Amino acid sequence: MLGGDCYPASPLGINLPNADWIRKEVGSKSVTLANITNAYDEASKGNGFLEEFAAGPEEVARIKEYGTIADALHTDLHECVGHASGKLAAGTDPNALKNYASPLEEARADLFALYFMMDKKIIDLGLLPAREAAEAEYDAYIRNGLLTQIVRIKPGKDIEQAHMRCRSTIAHWVYEKGKSGNVIEFISRDGKTCVMIRDYGKLRTLFGELLKEIQRIKSEGDFEAGKKLVEDYGVKVDPMLHTEILERYAKLNLAPYAGFVNPYLFPVYDGNGKITDIVVEYTDDYLAQMMYYGKNYSFLPVR
Ligand SMILES: [Zn+2]
Repeated sequence: MLGGDCYPASPLGINLPNADWIRKEVGSKSVTLANITNAYDEASKGNGFLEEFAAGPEEVARIKEYGTIADALHTDLHECVGHASGKLAAGTDPNALKNYASPLEEARADLFALYFMMDKKIIDLGLLPAREAAEAEYDAYIRNGLLTQIVRIKPGKDIEQAHMRCRSTIAHWVYEKGKSGNVIEFISRDGKTCVMIRDYGKLRTLFGELLKEIQRIKSEGDFEAGKKLVEDYGVKVDPMLHTEILERYAKLNLAPYAGFVNPYLFPVYDGNGKITDIVVEYTDDYLAQMMYYGKNYSFLPVR
């Protein structure tokens, strides 16, 4: 069941607690909601989005083969070894990064996942079937950060949400730093802007370099460096590209966010009033569910 801030749009994983001092003393716990990821994947199959924005049929085929497992591993690494790792230097104010703390922390966790998922050890351990799976995740991440996530932004607006700022910061930083070595390239496919990764090994090295820098920023509480990184790479949207992406996206007629409806759980009683079973019933009517909750679970006084 989803509730509160997690209904109807659910997180993909949960890593708690967030306070660094509690983590340091007792550690943290991570939960991955694999059924949510699976539902997103199933719902997005065949909606045309991937084919519209991927660089070509090779990339599409690789995502179809490895996308689900690679994405799941990215989420696991993000939560378990990303957020749950890293220490503050002695004397560092845990609130030093202020309003930039959240996008920088998400970037640190994402970079951890991106860097380590291409390690040979991941394949040796059987966590990914092949290196191409990590490449598929790199394709998806860069495509999203440089192109497709801005479908959620209104024309002329900046990127505000922490996870989106994080993805934009990472993708634009590695693009710029890898420009001279032709690591990532903007290409035109039938007049449509796409991105193509030319060198996965160098891209991995760049992910590692940015991870090192963001860890330093967090550990030392370097507010100015953190602010500059996010403001330079994570906030602004290229208006020309934005217009093109929004136009292509509008033609697909898709919703920018997905939400979930809860099942209804009905208890079954025996003659003595003891619960013997719980029957699960699914609905596809979101609005009716909201009205039902409002009617039956409205705990605030109505005046
Ligand atoms: Zn996170």
